[in-house]
Amino acid sequence: DTDQIDGSTAVVTGASSGIGEATASALADEGANVVLAARREDELESLADAIEADGGRALAVPTDVTNEDDLDALVDAALETFGTIDILVNNAGVMLLEPVERADRENFRQMVEVNLLGLMNLTHAVLPVMQDQGSGHIVNVSSTAGRQANANSSGYNATKFGVNGFTEALRQEVTGEGVRTTIIEPGAVETELPEHIPDEEVKEQMEEGLFDSMTPLQSEDIARAVAYAVTQPQHVSINEMLVRPTDQQ
Ligand code: NDP
Repeated sequence: DTDQIDGSTAVVTGASSGIGEATASALADEGANVVLAARREDELESLADAIEADGGRALAVPTDVTNEDDLDALVDAALETFGTIDILVNNAGVMLLEPVERADRENFRQMVEVNLLGLMNLTHAVLPVMQDQGSGHIVNVSSTAGRQANANSSGYNATKFGVNGFTEALRQEVTGEGVRTTIIEPGAVETELPEHIPDEEVKEQMEEGLFDSMTPLQSEDIARAVAYAVTQPQHVSINEMLVRPTDQQ
């Protein structure tokens, strides 16, 4: 038996493409009002239009998760339009893979600021709202890279291990107040994510080694996992979900 999220409000970061876009659509299909956050405004607006054309309710809020003022403005916009924030999906992320010795420090900084600090700061901004409501659900998109480190992935691994640690500590602090947390750990999903890999050698390895050798997940596969977690009855807390392509080692 699942709970209705009809009429509840979900904020989804990184909603302009890939897993975030699919998750926002899936939650809108379940009847949630969705607040779409990312930097690319055109993509957010066209997703909002598509959701509204399907009878849903969506609000596009251009947001850079590395900017704290943007995060506060996002929370304010969500509350002003829909009145509550019941679900937060911290999904925005970048994967700038490089071996440590060739790494650009700017890429280390960007991964930490987007994947980890952005998620921490937005959680911090939304948590008091959920505590006042006496309920809420924070879904943090980590990765298999949050459980298993691999060569050439050091900075990315550091951020995703960080996401897992942050989320478990948060769970212990707030689960008694009715605020649930879920860590989602996807394996290889076919999205724009690897397009930004700065190291050509690592990028090629990634594309050949991962995507050509298996049937990767699609964003919708992860969106279903998120929808499953957030539609459980209030007494059920899905704390962690590891979802790999069947033929990924
Ligand atoms: P995409 O590149 O398609 O999506 C990344 C999203 O993050 C985009 O919507 C992008 O929007 C947003 N984003 C990046 N930087 C910022 C920023 N500074 N502020 C706000 N939004 C930002 O890749 P995925 O859908 O694959 O990635 C989504 C999440 O899934 C990430 O956290 C990733 O680490 C994780 N993941 C992905 C896997 C995969 O194999 N694809 C596997 C495991 C985890 P915009 O550029 O418009 O700001």
